[in-house]
Amino acid sequence: MAKLSPIKVVSALPGTNCRECGEETCMAFAVKLIDHQVDINDCKPLVSEKKYAKKLKALKEIATPPIRKVVIGTGDRKMIVGDEEVMYRHELTYYNPSPICIEVADDDLDEVAKVTKYVNDYELYRIGANYYLDGVAIRCRSNDAKTFAAAVKKAKEITDMPLILCSTNPEILRAGAMVVKDKNPLLYAATRDNWEKVGKLALELNCPVAVYSSDLSELKSLATSLHEAGVEQIVLDPGCYYGSGNVADTIGAHLQLKRAAIEKDDKLVGFPTMGVTATAFIGKDKNMSEGERIAAAYEEGKMACLLMCNACNLLIMHTMDNWFQLAMVVVRENVYSDPRVNPSVDAKLYEVGSPDQDSPVFITTNYTMTYFTVRSDLQDLRLNAWLLVIDTEGISVESAVAGGQMVASKVAEAIKETGVLDKVNHRIVIIPGLAARISGELEELADLKVVVGPRDSSGIEKLMKGYDKDSLMKDYQAMKA
Ligand code: SF4
Repeated sequence: MAKLSPIKVVSALPGTNCRECGEETCMAFAVKLIDHQVDINDCKPLVSEKKYAKKLKALKEIATPPIRKVVIGTGDRKMIVGDEEVMYRHELTYYNPSPICIEVADDDLDEVAKVTKYVNDYELYRIGANYYLDGVAIRCRSNDAKTFAAAVKKAKEITDMPLILCSTNPEILRAGAMVVKDKNPLLYAATRDNWEKVGKLALELNCPVAVYSSDLSELKSLATSLHEAGVEQIVLDPGCYYGSGNVADTIGAHLQLKRAAIEKDDKLVGFPTMGVTATAFIGKDKNMSEGERIAAAYEEGKMACLLMCNACNLLIMHTMDNWFQLAMVVVRENVYSDPRVNPSVDAKLYEVGSPDQDSPVFITTNYTMTYFTVRSDLQDLRLNAWLLVIDTEGISVESAVAGGQMVASKVAEAIKETGVLDKVNHRIVIIPGLAARISGELEELADLKVVVGPRDSSGIEKLMKGYDKDSLMKDYQAMKA
């Protein structure tokens, strides 16, 4: 798909520069729309005034990405699924990290409560960011509408996160959906046997629906039928199968759908895909041994990582172990970080602990991984220190020194601008070992004593054992004399 141009988008906007969208001009809105920072609906005149109906239709046509956007749930924690433009991340970027949901069977309310609470409360802090799980999938095992509705009600009482309601029986789906009809649940799933009834329910409640078939032609045909019936929000599930050859087939099915939508512009499959990796536990005894459980979880983890890496847009998992979620959210973060932007923190002077005038001054780069690693090593040592972070455009020390983003003059300027040496009673700074080559020039430009630190911040502990401020200041005085 050719990249949209702002000129083309502007031609389908009202062009009044009325600022109702919060932007100064329609052109500014167009640029943000292309970068997925605003939504068509944010242009109120366009969507509400009849005279713009043709423009709205035209804009929808040109601005709808090959993988359409599907919204599940409501409020701050709603899931945005799909809305993607490229096969491979490096071609542009992926926009919406695949939500991770955990499934639970409906016939054990205590388990429903436990899983829902786990998902609701899950929070992982890693390298300066918090990561969360996204939703709960309630699977009908009871084959009973009342039991299913009670399970959905229990989950609703605990969380306002998105829910996925799983049954192929339309009446059971309806019973659950009525409990959360104002919460925009995902109905899972429409199949060749029930699609008309499930489609009607989706239209009645105006909620998204997942379509399942392991036969890609049938999947496409079902999605087309639902779409023609008026269902706009569709997610495709081509199945998730384990065992020899099946894993490759599963990944292949996702890739075929994606390739058809993005590279062949086949709008009939232009919907996000989902993978139910929880199928790794199908047929397993509820009372299986811990060894068997871990083995199944490992299989599930491999499949989930493969699907995440191939940009499957939504995952329903079973395993609820912390080691598993940790791997999943880290893989997701890596796949969905924007390749156009180096991960960076603000370049400024940071306090670690409660530094005072005697505290050491460390210098590092603003590459996220470098900053948080250095900071965490300093914190682990319970050091009170000043940490001066240089703007290296989000590039790590070695590359920044080689590429000119971390040169002596820039570091000297940052020292001056932040006034870090006014906060201490010495003129000593510690630079990373990988920046040793700038030490001499920095000493001259900034009039200070440079200590070349370890190549890796894990060596700071050893360095600090030999760090003697008074003796280093004597060296500084001698250097000046
Ligand atoms: S609200 Fe619509 S018409 Fe008004 S400035 Fe924004 S994009 Fe243009």
